[in-house]
Amino acid sequence: MTHTHEAGALHATAGVRAPSWLAPPDDVNTLVPKLWSQGVVRTAAGELEVAGVGVTELAEQFGTPLFVVDELDVRERARDFARAFASFEIFYASKAFCSAAVIRWVAEEGLSIDVCSAGELAVALKAGVPPERIGLHGNNKTEFELRQAIDLGLRRVVVDSFDEIARLRALTADRAPTRPLPVMVRATAGVEAHTHEYIATAHEDQKFGLSISEGETARAAQELAAIPALDLRGIHSHIGSQIFDTSGFEVAARRVLAEHAAVSRALGTVLPEVDLGGGFGIAYTTQDEPSSPQELADGLIAIVDAECHALGIDVPHLSIEPGRAIVGPAAFTLYTVGTVKPVVVSREASRLYVSVDGGMSDNIRTALYNAEYSACLAGRASQAPPRLSRVVGKHCESGDIVVMDEFLPSDVHPGDLLAVPGTGAYCRSMASNYNQAPRPAVAAVNDGDARLIMRRETVDDLLALDLG
Ligand SMILES: *Cc1c(COP(=O)(O)O)cnc(C)c1O
Repeated sequence: MTHTHEAGALHATAGVRAPSWLAPPDDVNTLVPKLWSQGVVRTAAGELEVAGVGVTELAEQFGTPLFVVDELDVRERARDFARAFASFEIFYASKAFCSAAVIRWVAEEGLSIDVCSAGELAVALKAGVPPERIGLHGNNKTEFELRQAIDLGLRRVVVDSFDEIARLRALTADRAPTRPLPVMVRATAGVEAHTHEYIATAHEDQKFGLSISEGETARAAQELAAIPALDLRGIHSHIGSQIFDTSGFEVAARRVLAEHAAVSRALGTVLPEVDLGGGFGIAYTTQDEPSSPQELADGLIAIVDAECHALGIDVPHLSIEPGRAIVGPAAFTLYTVGTVKPVVVSREASRLYVSVDGGMSDNIRTALYNAEYSACLAGRASQAPPRLSRVVGKHCESGDIVVMDEFLPSDVHPGDLLAVPGTGAYCRSMASNYNQAPRPAVAAVNDGDARLIMRRETVDDLLALDLG
């Protein structure tokens, strides 16, 4: 069944005003620091500049849409996690932004790398990351992927199903690794974290992991421990994304550590590791107040210490897997405005639809998750009053929205450069070729120097895949 309604009946009343959290700014030119990488400033002339390079120059040199990554910012976020979580092993979840350059920076700052496909693994290897610092995830790993993990000797495989256990048993029976392959069991702890609240349930209705409450985690651990070519390291849990504080981790950590202790007892050996997953939040708009890595570390360590003390066990070797928090705020998308259309949405109100030269093909998160973003005029400052606007793409889809609500200067016009901050995570990595859009280039900027780390796709790239 499709849902149709008279144009106007719903459209006219829906969201004419800005959402309650979004106030018209005193000055549309002011940057809110938490939304931007540390290298971004608005110069006296009014233009945005990142690490000393102006956006006009970036647009002229590399074209738009363009992802602009602030290298130092990525490195410092990785370093901040490494410093705060000094006793942990930190795996960068490479799916957030998967390019060899970014993975190399993060690895150089001391982080290990998580991949969840042969493709991501290939990029991590291209970045020069040694296999013993790469972990493999996934709810449906192929035989090829598992064979690679075995043959390369990856740091660990996080096992997600009984079918995968059978596959690992068969694969290692016919080709035992020289060194046992470390594995963990991905457990569902019955905790789902969402931005501002979390829900604790006994069951989870989703595809990942094995249930603690149903005894699946313990049974998987028994089965894995019985496979000689594998080295069962412990239990893994990942409770969600865009989590702003450690309260959601508290219930999960309690359940996971209790299970860790119970499984260790049942196996008659102390499993050495526990992974608490990723999901640390970032600021996409002024309403988001993420915790610092130090606050997260202090909170998590206190929770784990208290639980281990209560269970009478030693604190295991711990790991976490931040993705978004490393790369999200470190990049913005630079677009060129193509059309500006005031759309009358009720008798009193109209909204400015600002169309840019990209859209859902380079940022699917707004359409997919109702994600909220911010935007600002990037190529110049403006003295015009703020006007409630919606930044939309050029795709044939009315849901092709990049920024749902933002106050832009009312004189925004075709040819203006527009920047959307916080697009380092899950934008380029989720990009598509919808409407045969070539995926954007990625430029890295560092200390006055800009270079491409991913080139722009071309129509020839697309035609090369089409066999006619
Ligand atoms: C996606 C994912 C992460 C990273 O999540 P972020 O929200 O980017 O921190 C970590 N671990 C697992 C298992 C994931 O699936």
